This record gives sequence, C-alpha cells and structure tokens, in this order.
Amino acid sequence: MTALSIRHLTKTYKNGVQALRDISLDVHKGDFFALLGPNGAGKSTTIGIVSSLVNKSGGEVTIFGHSLDSARELAKKKVGVVPQEFNFNQFEKVFDIVVTQAGFYGIPAGAAKVAAEKYLRRLGLWEKRDNQARELSGGMKRRLMIARALVHEPELLILDEPTAGVDIELRRSMWDFLTDLNRQGKTIILTTHYLEEAESLCRHIAIIDHGTIVENTDMKSLLEKL
Ligand code: ADP
Ligand code: ADP
Repeated sequence: MTALSIRHLTKTYKNGVQALRDISLDVHKGDFFALLGPNGAGKSTTIGIVSSLVNKSGGEVTIFGHSLDSARELAKKKVGVVPQEFNFNQFEKVFDIVVTQAGFYGIPAGAAKVAAEKYLRRLGLWEKRDNQARELSGGMKRRLMIARALVHEPELLILDEPTAGVDIELRRSMWDFLTDLNRQGKTIILTTHYLEEAESLCRHIAIIDHGTIVENTDMKSLLEKL
C-alpha cells in the first residue's frame, strides 16, 4: 500500500520564489524514507504541503488513499509532523501540550490523557509532565515535539531535520527511537541535509535540489554509486 503519493507537485510562494518545480514520489507503507538535499532545496516546503501547513500551487498529494484536495481531514489524521522549530507554547505544561494536541484530532479527554502518558513515557518525559516547556533542555523539547506528533497515532510520521543542532548522544538515541518505531510498523519520512543520517536509518532516499527530485532510489543502490 502507498502511504504517500506525490504527483507533479509545484509551489510558488507569494514572493515569487518557485520552491517546488515538479516533484513526484511514492513512499510505501512501512518504509523509512529520507528526503535529502541542501538548504533551500524545497524539503520543508514539501513536508509543509504534505502536513497541510502550506498550500500547494499545483499537483496532487494522496495520503493512505486520501487526497488532500477531496479528503483533507482524513488525510490529516494519518500524518504526524515534527517541524524543525519548537512551536509549542513555552509556558504551557508538558502534559497539557500533548493532551491539547490530541484534542485537535477529536480524541476525547480520557483517551487523550492515556495517549499522552504513553508517549511521554516512551520518550522519557513522564517525570517532566508538570514542568513548563521552557524548563526543558533542548533535547527534551525535541522529544516533546515527537510525543506531540504521535499522540493521535498517525500511520505516517514526518520529521523535518530531526537532529539538526543535536549533540551526538541525543542523535544516537533519537535514531534508536525512530528505528524502533519503524520496526513496529510506522511509516517514517525524514528530511536531512546529512547523508550519514539517511544512510544510518533509511531504506529509500530521494534527493531534492532546486525544487526537483534528482535521484530516487533505495539506499543500497545509492551507496554503490557513490
Ligand atoms: P503561502 O503561499 O503558503 O500562503 P506565503 O507566501 O504567504 O505562503 O508566506 C508565508 C510566510 O512566510 C509569510 O509571512 C512570509 O513572510 C514568510 N517567508 C517569506 N520568505 C520566507 C523564507 N524564505 N523562508 C521562510 N519564511 C518566509
Ligand atoms: P529546505 O527545507 O530544503 O531548506 P525550503 O522548502 O525551506 O527548503 O525552501 C525552498 C525555497 O523556498 C527557498 O528558496 C526558500 O527561501 C523559499 N521559501 C521557503 N518558505 C518560504 C515562504 N514562506 N515564503 C517565501 N519563500 C519561502
């Protein structure tokens, strides 16, 4: 089954920047997929469109069979996204941040609390549940972003540069966590500008440059070519 299908996707921002020129790619259910490219290539724009944070200019995006044009609400429920920047309220409590997010997806309060506890525990943040987000270390904030992205049990998890600015120890533990999650069946897409990260984690890779896909292959074939 196809988790994500992108066809002829284009994006021109209002300032005239053509961020995506013609992107097509498929990500299969259960895959661990890397979108690799230099700064400004169009990775965040692609992710923004798939997670309904950015409007596309043209083309089609389908998530587990639900088109963003005709079934956006169903498509949105299938996706959890971890943006690069911390975009939670720094003064809100850790537990409340995750529970509130579940509420956005229509999950009833009781179930939202159960799910929030499950993911805060898995990410080693349960002891911090009553702290305000601003009291967390950088690494903990990043884990909070992941807990929040998972709370509605999306089938597809998308992470934008998950280890940018992260020290080596936390990077390793983040890689282990994502590998486990993928082994349990979650489809994962991450963007990175760092081949080693893609190589350590991902089975398939697309390379994006100036808003076009210049390579789309399995990791093994790519490494043989390099
Ligand atoms: P959309 O076409 O999706 O509505 P906009 O063109 O309105 O997006 O831009 C969204 C916001 O991002 C604007 O507030 C804009 O100022 C800001 N922005 C502009 N240029 C950049 C950039 N290079 N990188 C990130 N954000 C930018
Ligand atoms: P990447 O994630 O690969 O670094 P982006 O998708 O952020 O690339 O950016 C692709 C291009 O679009 C860049 O030229 C960037 O400056 C521009 N851009 C990104 N966001 C906006 C925005 N909101 N408004 C205008 N231009 C943008």
